[in-house]
Amino acid sequence: MNIPKQLRKKSIKFIKINFSSKQGKSPMEPSWQTEANYRYTEAEFQDYLKSAKAYGVVCGIGTLAIVDCDDELMEIAADNNLPESFKIRTGGGGTHIYYFVPDLKEKVILEHKGTHLGEIQWKGAQALGPGSLHKATGKHYKVINNVSIATISAETLRNAFKPYWPRKEKSRVSQCISGIDMDIQIVLDKYPVKYMAEKGGEQVGPHPTHNSASGENFHVDNDKNMWHCFRHNTGGDTLTLIAMLEGYIDCSQCVEGGLTGDTFKKTKKIAYTKYGLGNPPEGDSDKPVNEDLTKTDIELLKKPNLLFNIIKEIHTEGVAGEELAQLVLINKISMRLVKNASETSSNLLVSDRTGGGKDKLTGSVCKVLLVDEQTVFHETAITPKVLNYWEPLGEGSSWDGRVVYLEDPEVEVLKLQAFKIRASGSNNITTLDDKRKVRRLHIKGKHVFIITSMNHAIDEELMRRWDALRLDTSIELTKKVVDLKCRKAAGLWTPTINKDFRACLQKMPRVSVIVPFAPDLASYAIRYSSLSLRSQIDKLLDFIKASAALHQFQRERDSARNIIANYDDYYYGVMVFLKLGCINPTVLSVKEEQWVNELKKIYKEQKKEYPDAEEKDIGWVKPSVVAERIPKMSAQWYSNRGEDLIQRGLINEADKYDPAGHKHCKHMKYAGRAAKVDLPTVEALEGTRGYLATDLINDINLKRKKDGLSKVKSWDNYKQSKK
Ligand SMILES: [Zn+2]
Repeated sequence: MNIPKQLRKKSIKFIKINFSSKQGKSPMEPSWQTEANYRYTEAEFQDYLKSAKAYGVVCGIGTLAIVDCDDELMEIAADNNLPESFKIRTGGGGTHIYYFVPDLKEKVILEHKGTHLGEIQWKGAQALGPGSLHKATGKHYKVINNVSIATISAETLRNAFKPYWPRKEKSRVSQCISGIDMDIQIVLDKYPVKYMAEKGGEQVGPHPTHNSASGENFHVDNDKNMWHCFRHNTGGDTLTLIAMLEGYIDCSQCVEGGLTGDTFKKTKKIAYTKYGLGNPPEGDSDKPVNEDLTKTDIELLKKPNLLFNIIKEIHTEGVAGEELAQLVLINKISMRLVKNASETSSNLLVSDRTGGGKDKLTGSVCKVLLVDEQTVFHETAITPKVLNYWEPLGEGSSWDGRVVYLEDPEVEVLKLQAFKIRASGSNNITTLDDKRKVRRLHIKGKHVFIITSMNHAIDEELMRRWDALRLDTSIELTKKVVDLKCRKAAGLWTPTINKDFRACLQKMPRVSVIVPFAPDLASYAIRYSSLSLRSQIDKLLDFIKASAALHQFQRERDSARNIIANYDDYYYGVMVFLKLGCINPTVLSVKEEQWVNELKKIYKEQKKEYPDAEEKDIGWVKPSVVAERIPKMSAQWYSNRGEDLIQRGLINEADKYDPAGHKHCKHMKYAGRAAKVDLPTVEALEGTRGYLATDLINDINLKRKKDGLSKVKSWDNYKQSKK
């Protein structure tokens, strides 16, 4: 291969090309920009040329610039506006025009209405020289204008390509526009930018919002928290990246001064609410969850068929069937309105076997009940890192009254301390960030916490704090959904969204709820020895409270404005309690499930062996016998964990005679079937005559006195007076 005479100059440098690389254009030696480049005369290079298929011409050295015309538009502009110069037809069909440009500062990318036209190659770039082979087409690079290389100014170049020249050449936005150092990695994790590779201390990959021919036009410098786009020669800090990812500005607008006014404010806000970066937008942190309800709002909330109306709204979201599950979700979300609920009652795991309906259902119920972005925080596929740093409300703001809905979080997320603390209520989270700096988050208050998951590998400790809602993905349900879709398509059913109704649902204030029949419930549980009810009674009471809070404009209040729950709330609470399996918990850890299943088997075996025996005598077994039947389980596990199964009403324990040891010792049996008759009916509750809620009656009497009514002596008496 011969080097044309125009390039046989002292100042021009050449490099070796790795022709076996993908495009056959990559430099062979990594330090080609600094050391591994050669003068034409150097023996090593001459040697290389003897057998080489291609060689590179280094740009930016000796003021050599190569105008790389990928598009005809650019070639036409060059022909019309630039002096004649050494010109090559590339193997790929474009042209390379060589110029000496002593005052050029950097590589320039030329574009017309978003179409890439070509580049002016400078430092950091090289081009295959004339005589080289183009690997993809099999064509050679040929000289098409065999004149000498002209010398021009950068100004001449710019004028020649004026309409295609970038508005600003080097336009990285200055770091920390917001004055806050934001970790750019948090944004990249949250908005997964695909296939980022490490190169030269930076992350390199395809651009996240527009395409990339090379797959490497997007660079991120983690040390500086800056990014750069090589297509547009634009970039900026973390906040600018967020603005671009959220679609507030285009990549080409990411230049100095590109983020101002409302866009700037909007970006700051989303940086805070979505990515947990920066400070709360001004005036927002004190914003109450609830705004004032109007009279019309209250009229809507007073309608007796409130629950039915909510379900009708959920139907307009295209959800059909699973009304029981909808009622559970409505109750759980309404828990955010209850000031005096226990923390763990507001945790809910929604799962289904196929992954078909859980997110549609959960999302739809949230959409109807929670409209405001300050009330509901819906996160899809949150990563452990984001949850650890997640502080969208800012320090000091309470999570009370809000709902966090994590859609299919990673399994690692469920194991995080930050996750467990959120599930348990008010506390501090301490984590280490990337730079091993300690970060502390204070989680104040307790949000309603909903997660959807197909994964059941949730550890025992955690599972105790969660209620699980299993969805029925039966054929029956599918039929309903299909039917609804078809009716919609046929124009037989037009969903009409009642915006006013939804708005007032989310504006409801938080209240304290009194359950006047709670003592009756407790005395029933004690009197009838309902173990599982006794241990779960707080939960049942919370479900009742949530119902009362949702129906707050239809319930009595005492003088302290507390809401008084009634028996309608009891029925709703019981329904939720049963659907969630609180009374016979279906949510068992793997080991618990193995243990219980083994007991069930033993029950069946004994029943077969002694068909005439009485029910109460069947199924008893020693813990050690059960342990022997399950691999990797011990009686010790049972003595540590068994109490929990007894508490949940799954196992009964008793001392029985053991013929083998000739003595009485601890035996157990599966008690699941016995636990189901636990909940009293309203009639049974009224009949228990538990002690009276005297404080409540006093309150009611104070109120009645104000209204000029006579005193009531007891709750029964009060109920009579209401009839
Ligand atoms: Zn770009």
